[in-house]
Amino acid sequence: MASNLSLLLLVLGYLTVAQAQIRLYNLRASNLPADILGTTDGYVKVFCGPASLGKTAVRNNNVNPWWTEEFSYFKAQENDVLRLEVYDRDVLFDDLLGVCQRQLRPGTHEHDCFLKKGGTLHYAYTLSTSHQ
Ligand code: CA
Repeated sequence: MASNLSLLLLVLGYLTVAQAQIRLYNLRASNLPADILGTTDGYVKVFCGPASLGKTAVRNNNVNPWWTEEFSYFKAQENDVLRLEVYDRDVLFDDLLGVCQRQLRPGTHEHDCFLKKGGTLHYAYTLSTSHQ
């Protein structure tokens, strides 16, 4: 009985926390800058608020990479900051090409973000809220 009660409380806790879910997809970049060796090996790290959602695979030697990975996070909240860090993988240390930050809004949105060191990151996300 005690374990059933724990499970019920766990489910209730989940329901009260799960106010919104974000799905990030359609990540691609164009005209990324070449490094000193002339090979741009791009990948993206994804954060939502304080949470790390992971990173994409590295696309070797491609200045116009695209990624098939999708990222989901069920504890997202409206106005949380979505943060995308674009890197060029290198032998010694990876080069940060630029950072894209944006506050989440409900619905589906597509954005282009200009990277500090050159190039553009394109991405789309959907934030679905349960109270609408
Ligand atoms: Ca590289």
